[in-house]
Amino acid sequence: MQSCPMCTKWEADADLRIAELTHSYVLLNRDQFFPGYTFVFTKDHVTELFHLDRETRQAVMEEVTLVAAALYNLFIPDKINYELLGNMVPHMHWHVVPRFKVDRLWPRPIWAEPHDEVILSPAESAERVASIKKSIFATEPQRTLRKPEQEG
Ligand SMILES: [Zn+2]
Repeated sequence: MQSCPMCTKWEADADLRIAELTHSYVLLNRDQFFPGYTFVFTKDHVTELFHLDRETRQAVMEEVTLVAAALYNLFIPDKINYELLGNMVPHMHWHVVPRFKVDRLWPRPIWAEPHDEVILSPAESAERVASIKKSIFATEPQRTLRKPEQEG
């Protein structure tokens, strides 16, 4: 689909790429107001869970779960939030967000009130991407398609 921002996001936001899984891409959200805020979105342009065959749907849910576990292991939040809305961008994408009781919006949803964006420097962003990628691989090595690059 030409006009869908999710269909081109993997190409457009190459600096935020965390991992390519079997059915989905994992990408860091550019706004890191919520540290570790990550997108998991399907490679294919699908919009509803019930449009997927059972096997694919279960596999996608496993991938979302893997990313959530990896974020949990890395950030040790009080809760992981999973949001699958698609009103603005219907292409299936999860907002997987570590939440902390000390965050200003706790315990409300991440969109409860506006906040100033936290944009990391390129170096900080690369470091966060690398640490999440490493955590995904450590959490479930057999599920990732590519090993994390060697860190210096
Ligand atoms: Zn799309």
